[in-house]
Formats: sequence, C-alpha cells, structure tokens
Amino acid sequence: MNHGNRSTGPIQSPHLPLGDRRDAPFYGRDILEVAQFRRADLQHVFGVAREMREMVTRVGSFDLLKGKILANLFYEPSTRTASSFYAAMERLGGSVIPINEVRYSSVSKGESLPDTVRSLECYADVIVLRHPELGAAKEAARYARKPIINAGDGIGEHPTQALLDLFTIVEEAGRIDGLTVTMLGDLKNGRTVHSLARLLSMFDVKLRFVSPDSLRFPEKIRDELKEQRIAFSEHGDLEEVLSQTDVLYVTRVQKERFEDPQEYKRVQGAYVINNETLDRARPTMVLMHPLPRVGEISMEVDSDPRAAYFRQMEYGMYVRMALLAMVLGKA
Ligand code: ASP
Repeated sequence: MNHGNRSTGPIQSPHLPLGDRRDAPFYGRDILEVAQFRRADLQHVFGVAREMREMVTRVGSFDLLKGKILANLFYEPSTRTASSFYAAMERLGGSVIPINEVRYSSVSKGESLPDTVRSLECYADVIVLRHPELGAAKEAARYARKPIINAGDGIGEHPTQALLDLFTIVEEAGRIDGLTVTMLGDLKNGRTVHSLARLLSMFDVKLRFVSPDSLRFPEKIRDELKEQRIAFSEHGDLEEVLSQTDVLYVTRVQKERFEDPQEYKRVQGAYVINNETLDRARPTMVLMHPLPRVGEISMEVDSDPRAAYFRQMEYGMYVRMALLAMVLGKA
C-alpha cells in the first residue's frame, strides 16, 4: 500500500485506483434523488466514505481527482453543503469554481438554468447545484452532459444529505435495521427529511413523525411509505414517542418557504430539545440535525455524547468525497 504524502507524489489506496473506472457504479451519472440508490449502492458509498476518512486522517489530502474541476452552483444560501463539497474536492486534489452568489453571475442578467449549466460544464467535470425550485436539478440534468449532483431543490430532495444522514446513523448506532427513527419539526417543507424517509424505507425501520398539524409530511411521501409497507405514525407531541426513539432527527422550521410570516411565527418555537428532554430519552439515542438550528436544540445539549450533529457534518465530507470520486470514475 503506497500511502506517502503529497510531496512524494500521488497517493493511492488499493481500492481507489487512479485510472478512470468506467464500470464503476455511478460513473458519469447524475445524483438527483435517493430512489437511484439500492442497498448495495449504499454499502458501496459507505465503504468508500470510510476509506476517505482513513485517508484524510492519515494524509489530509491526496491526488485522486487531480486535474478535475467541480462547479459549485448555489442559488440558495448554504454553509455546510457548499463548503463540504468544496473541502471534499480540495482534499481529493481537485479544484472548485465556487458560485455562491448567483447575483454576481450572469444569472442576475436573466440567464436560464439550462444555459448556465451548459456554460459551466465547458470548464468543469461535475456540477453541484442548489436551487429554490423543486425539480431544478432534474431540469439541469436534462441539458447537461456532465454529472449534476442535486444539493437541494426547494422542498424536493437533498439526496447527498440523506446519504450522509444514513452514514451517520450507521456509524453512530451501528445498524439501521430494527431502529425507530423519529423525525421532528417542519416535515412539510424540509427536504432533508423527505429524502431520508425515502432512503430509510429500504430498511426494516419504524418511523415516527412529530410536527405541528400544518407541517405534516407531504401526502405523496406518506403514500410511498404505505406502498413500501413501512410502519410509521404521526404525532403532535414528542413525549408520545421519545422513550422508544433510537434516532431523533430534528429539523428547523423552513422560514423561507412560508408565504405568511404570521403562520411561521405560530409554529416556529413548537419544539425545543434541551437537557430535560434528553433525561427522558434512551441513553444510546442518536440526536441529529441537518443544521442550521434556530432554537430547536438548545446549546446546553451540545456536550451530551448523544448530540451527533457536528459529527454528522464531518461524516458529510467523507460521503461527498466518495460521491465525487464515484461519479468521476475513481471509486
Ligand atoms: N441545510 C439543510 C438544507 O439545506 C437543512 C435546512 O436548511 O434546514 O435543507
């Protein structure tokens, strides 16, 4: 195994060959929604993510994607998704064109999404896209020749977040099958829970949804879960399910999706997780949040070992490294 460092030339893990692997799963493909993944694909992504973690721990960065360029195209604000894709690409030895403020790009001159992606792919090998409209990533993929990775399309999906969420569950809880996963907060507008519930429906899990009545899971997703025969129930009060919960996934009320600010105010502080809540939870419960949090988890909880949300962010970088390597044919 040649694990030198950057000064001694390219580093190669035995499972991460430097030549393009055109037969590699997801080589050249878009990542648009979680339905593209089967259980075997998830094992593969997680296996590569673990290798990425090992390599980052040993050497920080290495040259697997040297010469490759990522266009990071963000039409909506982002801290974690944008910077973790950026860091992932840099750690793999590639480069990034960051477009975080589309108002400084030709989008502000009225350029269409198809034209913007067809322009960027002249310079880049892969495009990560965040957009406020549901279906935008699919629309971009229809026009682009290079892979499009959906980094959140409005209230639609956030597939790479769901993959990192699932990876967090595996790493923290040690398994997925048999778990009771409770999702709390804005289940109507939160794209991360939409993707995660769909992904979890491939496993033998129980799902518990806790939200104000006006922020229930969309009917379409509830119907999909019923078709998959996934056991789920809906609640207004966390106490009804807290003691049976193995993973508590808390979400922010998505202010930007509300037309009426009064309605946002009515539901905003509906749930707050604090140390008292955790006193009534299982000692092994995994507490997650896709972040940013705006009051749903008080800071006093951060030092509890069950608080996994910052570790969750780090898992995200390894998963995104794995995905970039996969779509570019290196894993
Ligand atoms: N960062 C996540 C997203 O982009 C969660 C959130 O914004 O609440 O969907």
